[in-house]
Amino acid sequence: MRKNILCANWKMNKTYSEAQDYFKELLSMDLPGSQVDIVVAVPDLFAKMALDESEGSDIKIGVQNAYPKESGSFTGETSVSALADLGIEYVIVGHSERREIFNESDAFINEKVLAVFEQGMTPILCVGESLEQKEKGETKKVVNEQIEKGLTGVQAEDISQLVVGYEPVWAIGTGKTASDEEAQQAAAAIREKIAELYSQELADEVRIQYGGSANPENIGSFLAQTNVDGGLIGGAGLEAASFAQMIKVA
Ligand code: PGA
Repeated sequence: MRKNILCANWKMNKTYSEAQDYFKELLSMDLPGSQVDIVVAVPDLFAKMALDESEGSDIKIGVQNAYPKESGSFTGETSVSALADLGIEYVIVGHSERREIFNESDAFINEKVLAVFEQGMTPILCVGESLEQKEKGETKKVVNEQIEKGLTGVQAEDISQLVVGYEPVWAIGTGKTASDEEAQQAAAAIREKIAELYSQELADEVRIQYGGSANPENIGSFLAQTNVDGGLIGGAGLEAASFAQMIKVA
C-alpha cells in the first residue's frame, strides 16, 4: 500500500566533480523507479547540478537541512523557500548529527518541518534514541516525544506526505544495526503516535524509513517489516553502484 522510499544522505561528502560522476553513474543504471521512490540528499552546493543531471529521471533531489525563514540576516544559511524555488522536493530535518553537533532543539526542528510543508516540499523527519536511552528501555518514549514535538502545528492535510526516518543514533555510521524486530517496533510506535495525534488512516499513509548502517545486504530484511517503508542511507549510499543495488532490492 505504501511505496518504499530510499534516500541517500551524502552528508558532507564529495567534491563537485565526484557528485557529477555519481549522477552520471547512477543514471546509467537501470533503476526500477516506478516501484520505489528514489531520493538523493546532497549538500546545497550541488543541488542545482543534481537537479539538472537527474532531470527527466526517477531520481528526486533532496537536501540535508534548510533554514526556516523566508529571507533575511541569517549569515551562512539557505532558506527553505529558495530551495523550493530551485525545485528541491525533500528536506532532511532533525538528523541526529544536527541535533547533536549543531544543538538543534525539537522546537527548531518543528519550525523547519512547518516551513518545509509550507513550501510544498516533503520533510524527512529524523528521530531515534541514543545508546544510553536504548539501554534504559526508553526508545519508544524518545521517538514518541520527538514525533510529537516535531509535528506540532502540522495540519492533517500535510501528514500523509510526511516521511519519518527512524535512525537509532548508536547505529549511524557504526556498522551496528537495529535488529529487524527493533526497527519494526520503533516504526510501529511512531505510527501509533501519529495515529494518536491525527488518525489511523493518515498514520497508515506515512512512510517510515529505517536508517543506521543499512546496506545492500541488510536492507531487504528491514523492508520486509510491515512498518518499515524505506531506508535512509548514509555510507552505503555514497557509491552509486551500492545505492543502485539497494534500490533494486527495494
Ligand atoms: P549510515 O548513516 O547509513 O552511514 O549509518 C545513516 C544516516 O545518518 O542517515
